[in-house]
Amino acid sequence: MATRKRGARKTGSLTEYKAKRNFSRTREPEGRVGRGPKHKLHFVIQKHAASHLHFDFRLELDGVMKSWAVPKGPSYDPQVRRLAMQVEDHPIEYNTFEGTIPEGEYGGGTVMLWDRGTYEPEAGGGEEALRDGYERGDLKILMHGTRMRGGWVLVRMRTDERGRSQWLLIKHRDDFADPGYDVVADETTSVVSGRSMEEIGTKSRRVWSSNRTSSTTRRTAAAKKPSPARKTARKKSATARKSAGAASRKKPPTPRTRRSTRSKS
Ligand code: MN
Repeated sequence: MATRKRGARKTGSLTEYKAKRNFSRTREPEGRVGRGPKHKLHFVIQKHAASHLHFDFRLELDGVMKSWAVPKGPSYDPQVRRLAMQVEDHPIEYNTFEGTIPEGEYGGGTVMLWDRGTYEPEAGGGEEALRDGYERGDLKILMHGTRMRGGWVLVRMRTDERGRSQWLLIKHRDDFADPGYDVVADETTSVVSGRSMEEIGTKSRRVWSSNRTSSTTRRTAAAKKPSPARKTARKKSATARKSAGAASRKKPPTPRTRRSTRSKS
């Protein structure tokens, strides 16, 4: 404690996250708080088909992922305010989680990595500025993702008796703002694997059950050929992906986005 810098209040805790989950049943990470002090802060947005479809918006802060469930997902229209219900802090290892949480477990359903990248306080000031904004309930950030670009703000509206806060997620008026761009409708596949929700669900169930069968059963399952119906479905969705990627339908985010994307390669 004596070594902790004055004013470096830590807000992260995984106690509630761990209490809600049975890690012998789910492949979600158990997690621990922390990571080295000098690195870029990451964000991740996971599309989660639980009892209600929502987008889990997570920002790294103080060694955990501060998390909000955004039912409708983000909007590039600065006039649109998207409800963001704060949920328990998640471990940083959750940032790579894509798959299926077993039915009946907490948050059971398919999880897709919808976007990820780094973020920073809009006005500079590092993690301390983010911590201040978070505690004041006015968190202005710059996002450097594939689908999330430019300035956004999370504004806290109210906190209920259980300590749960309702926030609003709003796009800032900047070069990336665009009322005509429906990013949630346009981007429906994993930013990491390119898979649809359906494809993640199908694949993950197979992996999940094979983890829990004997080696004999596993060999049998592996030898099984996919049914013709599934093959057709897969081929169809691959074709759909290809035509969707034909760029003509896809709105180019903005000239600046295209430039910065290209310069990364
Ligand atoms: Mn969720």
